[in-house]
Amino acid sequence: MSTKVAVVTGSNKGIGLAIVKALCQQFQGVVYLTSRDIGRGKETMDTLVSEGLKPMFHQLDINDLSSITAAAKYFKEKYGGVDILVNNAGIAFKGADTTPFAIQAEVTLKTNFFATRDMLTHFLPLIKPGGRVVNVSSFVGSRALNQCSPALQERFRSEDLSEEELAGLMERFVKETQKDEHKQGGWPETAYGVSKTGVTALSMILARRLSKERPGDKILLNACCPGWVRTDMAGTKAPKSPEEGAETPVYLALLPPDATQPHGRFVSDKEVQPW
Ligand code: NDP
Repeated sequence: MSTKVAVVTGSNKGIGLAIVKALCQQFQGVVYLTSRDIGRGKETMDTLVSEGLKPMFHQLDINDLSSITAAAKYFKEKYGGVDILVNNAGIAFKGADTTPFAIQAEVTLKTNFFATRDMLTHFLPLIKPGGRVVNVSSFVGSRALNQCSPALQERFRSEDLSEEELAGLMERFVKETQKDEHKQGGWPETAYGVSKTGVTALSMILARRLSKERPGDKILLNACCPGWVRTDMAGTKAPKSPEEGAETPVYLALLPPDATQPHGRFVSDKEVQPW
């Protein structure tokens, strides 16, 4: 049997690192810690090795298309594909950050939505039969959805929303923030929230596509919320440890071979949530 392989983006620290640790302990295969910065990634690798874990490392900056395609080529050639992909890499401006909202919107959407979409464009074709894809979204994305205009909510919840239309809506949000017209456009005042609305909606679209185009492959793709977790992103007051934050993403990554659900859902605390 060929070697199974799991890839976790943005895993040099925080929830991604906790996901790598849990997969090293629970997944029967090779686990790849990836980071955009080789130095930060290797430093974390040294710590894990000193703890007796044996992950592998590959550089992966999701904002850099050539980094994504180089990684995709590597996994294709070395393993013939990927069994588990966890799209965890993400960014958030701090609440107190004074960067203009339009710039926060552009930068946040670029990584959290558009770069995650690039990852999925290049890695979904590599996902092997029985594979699991987990997109780390947030409950903040669901809250942002509920703060959108009824017309936008209808589109984000629609089963006929296409990837192109969704990308167009995300672009529209960024453009409207530049003209300070996003409120009139029906958007909430949260770039991070809108980016995660996009990640959850994209997960639903791609799951439907997998079911239609590769029904026999039994791949399960979901979005999830790790909860509010103590990391550099969320700060020290959050209630969950990174290990607790990793629980739902790891549960989705390790759904048993005969599972048919959840698929195309938004999952929190291992439970499917309303969208
Ligand atoms: P951290 O800031 O601790 O870690 C984020 C990770 O993503 C880092 O490894 C960072 O790398 C990496 N990253 C950022 N941009 C890129 C990029 N372009 N390419 C590759 N890696 C990148 O955050 P968390 O661990 O808290 O967050 C992980 C995920 O969980 C995110 O998607 C976040 O939105 C989501 N989330 C977190 C919550 C929380 O309460 N913490 C709640 C809900 C969702 P580097 O070290 O180089 O910056």
